[in-house]
Amino acid sequence: MDGFEPNSGVVLIAATNRPDVLDPALLRPGRFDRHVTVDRPDVKGREQILQIKATDKPLAECVDLKTLARLTPGMSGADLENVVNEAALLAAREDHKQITMSDLERSRDRIVMGSEHQLIMSEEERRTVAYHESGHAMTAALIPEIDSPHSVTIIPRGQALGITYAIPEEDQYLYSEAWCRGQIACLLAGQVAERLGVGDTFNGAGDDIKRATELARHMVCGWGMGELGPLALGNQEGEVFLGRELTRKRDYSNKTAVKVDEDIRRILDSSRQRAESILTEREDALHRMAEALLEHETLYRDQVVRLLEGKPLESPARPEVHTEENEMDTAGLKEEARTGEEEKTPAPAPFKEPPLAAPGV
Ligand code: ZN
Repeated sequence: MDGFEPNSGVVLIAATNRPDVLDPALLRPGRFDRHVTVDRPDVKGREQILQIKATDKPLAECVDLKTLARLTPGMSGADLENVVNEAALLAAREDHKQITMSDLERSRDRIVMGSEHQLIMSEEERRTVAYHESGHAMTAALIPEIDSPHSVTIIPRGQALGITYAIPEEDQYLYSEAWCRGQIACLLAGQVAERLGVGDTFNGAGDDIKRATELARHMVCGWGMGELGPLALGNQEGEVFLGRELTRKRDYSNKTAVKVDEDIRRILDSSRQRAESILTEREDALHRMAEALLEHETLYRDQVVRLLEGKPLESPARPEVHTEENEMDTAGLKEEARTGEEEKTPAPAPFKEPPLAAPGV
């Protein structure tokens, strides 16, 4: 490894998930010369992986692996294998001869959001969760720059009491300022809806607030999206690795720290106001959606759209096959909501970190 010995014919391969902390000595010419970045698969890659993982499984006619690939953004090969295996278990448990699309989607939900579990909740608590999730779902459906909701549920899963699940139309690698602001408005809309629906706010919004604040901090301290302008504040190359979030070492003055806090507060405040105006403007739809959630527990994208359009719900049952045809478009609604709202120019920024906003809120 000294770079001078003529060790020809010897190939050394090494792998790491922390390239940022490698000793520069390892990367000098003559040592590890070639770097191959192995990222998570894109939609085409996911489809091909699913095809391989499903070869020895009895799939029903209705299974469309292309659609399933679109519904599993950010999943690794191991995650996809897990989806197929879990679906096979679900199918076997219910004595299906073949794995259906519904089995695969339920399996995907289980892996992304945790398995459903029974919690004895009071009617008042269920109502609060229904309003909270309706707030997320409505803003996700109405804010043009962010992903539309795929489904919203008040069935507790994993650690969450309810989940609004949004999937991007396609794999996303860049996040604009408009996307970030819309995402924060959507995160804060849960608590705004609680206030409008039951007249109080609850600790369940804690995780939303944490994620919104983290996103706003990234916008201000790294991505040049705040009023402070393009400044990289806080050295991220710390040695400590807490979960997926790298710790930030403070490397700026107290005066700047005050400005950073103000900037973050401004982003959070304006986003909360945006959520507030969206929800108060359509308060009747908010009440309808919360009632529908209390009755059916889970609503899908087309049902959310119907409620927002003031139409009655059609089928409370889960669509057996999830295809692009039976998935109604929220583009029209978003276009409608856009008029009258202040236009924001998207300012794309290179994005190197994992997206902060996980699909479920
Ligand atoms: Zn929430």
